Amino acid sequence: MAKLTVKDVDLKGKKVLVRVDFNVPVKHGVITNDNRITAALPTIKYILEQGGRAILFSHLGRVKEEADKEGKSLAPVAADLAAKLGQEVQFIPGVTRGAELEAAVNALEDGQVLLVENTRFEDVDGKKESKNDPELGKYWASLGDGIFVNDAFGTAHRAHCSNVGVAQLVDTAVVGYLMQKEIDFLGNAVENPVRPFVAILGGAKVADKLNVISNLLEKCDTLIIGGGMAYTFLKAQGYEIGKSLVDDTKLDYCKEMMEKAEKLGKKLLLPVDSVTIAEFPNPIDAPVETEVYGVADMPADREGCDIGPKTAQMYADAVKTAKTVVWNGPMGVFENPVLAKGTIAVAQALADTDATTIIGGGDSAAAVNQLGFADKMSHISTGGGASLEFLEGKELPGVAAADDK
Ligand code: ATP
Repeated sequence: MAKLTVKDVDLKGKKVLVRVDFNVPVKHGVITNDNRITAALPTIKYILEQGGRAILFSHLGRVKEEADKEGKSLAPVAADLAAKLGQEVQFIPGVTRGAELEAAVNALEDGQVLLVENTRFEDVDGKKESKNDPELGKYWASLGDGIFVNDAFGTAHRAHCSNVGVAQLVDTAVVGYLMQKEIDFLGNAVENPVRPFVAILGGAKVADKLNVISNLLEKCDTLIIGGGMAYTFLKAQGYEIGKSLVDDTKLDYCKEMMEKAEKLGKKLLLPVDSVTIAEFPNPIDAPVETEVYGVADMPADREGCDIGPKTAQMYADAVKTAKTVVWNGPMGVFENPVLAKGTIAVAQALADTDATTIIGGGDSAAAVNQLGFADKMSHISTGGGASLEFLEGKELPGVAAADDK
């Protein structure tokens, strides 16, 4: 269902409540990756240019008790945002409600912006943010003039107060540019893909992606499995997998999925060879000796930590003819350069194709960024968990709460 967007509402002179995703990594008061702040700028700038008065909400990390507030203030974000916007950002440290906040909100002029302190500071007293407390929702909604813009895709899979509670209590709830972009790319890829549609899944565990595997099998033409999760499939096929990552409780599930692929006439590609090690490197990027084995020749005392060269070639070939590619989860322990080759090969194949290429957040986004392929992809999702739920075919509460067109 198409949602109303920020472009559909008259913002001039209005106090506009905006949920953004400023959940950025902060170390000793310094933001170490500001991608999410940059990604929120188009919506914020648009509101300000239209003469709106933007009141921004975001969470940062997890806050359960008073002591957790240490280092979780949005103060560094307010400073960074002010620099990016080239204008002052009102911010009251430690304050998520009360007379001082209300006075600052009411003093805003057209085109000015205020950032409310970390919404999860409200979790200290009975998880009011995370449990979507109705009183808190009413209070935050009362700060604005009846318009709520949700641009926080990263939390769209959660029904919290600042994204869903407030949305339900205002006259008009719409999505921002970033949210719309995520819906367009992920939604179109899954529901209306230009074919052939190839989905690539990797990462550590099968259990994390049960519904994703099942849903994508129905939607895609080819499903490629790599990373740690591939070994549970290989064991289900009867192969020796040595000391590789495995989930013995999911062997039947893997068999079911392989049967499902056959029944639906879908290609399900599994590794034909592995890069193996004797001991897991510690630290993870320490030098490591590797040997490559075909899946039928895997020794019992080795651990598979990357797809092998034949598999990498096979996966790259499968991507060549695709028109839509969705990728979630690295092909191996990419944090170690020796074990990153499979992930690099797949990233390179995506970079070389003219298909629409979509990276589904989390570690895959980190891998693509770290390996230098970011600008070669059509879309890198800003939400790990949220993009996975999208790929599962679920409706996200944060998206559902916005008004339909
Ligand atoms: P997110 O869940 O944050 O979106 P993701 O889905 O991209 O991330 P995860 O399931 O978290 O990926 O898995 C990523 C981790 O899997 C990486 O840390 C990587 O080192 C690890 N990994 C990949 N292949 C293997 C393997 N063969 N053996 C052990 N670990 C592996």
